[in-house]
Amino acid sequence: MYTMKKYDSDGHRLTNCCGAFSTFMEGERGEVLCCKACYREVSFGEGDGSDDLPSTGKPKVDPIDEFLALPSIWSNDPELAHITA
Ligand SMILES: [Zn+2]
Repeated sequence: MYTMKKYDSDGHRLTNCCGAFSTFMEGERGEVLCCKACYREVSFGEGDGSDDLPSTGKPKVDPIDEFLALPSIWSNDPELAHITA
């Protein structure tokens, strides 16, 4: 069975049933993770913060890539080309 994972706008994993956060509650088989909206048992990762998306959905900018791109711009400058030649 395939179930769509739900996330909020910040990439936090939410419960599949209600799109809510979950909480640990004392159940018949010990502590179980339950949806805070409907109090049904949910799988680990749903709304408990352990399965959040690594990024926030914003475009990822790698500062190292930007830094490495600079020297190639300079070497195309004819003013600098004769100095390094
Ligand atoms: Zn629920």
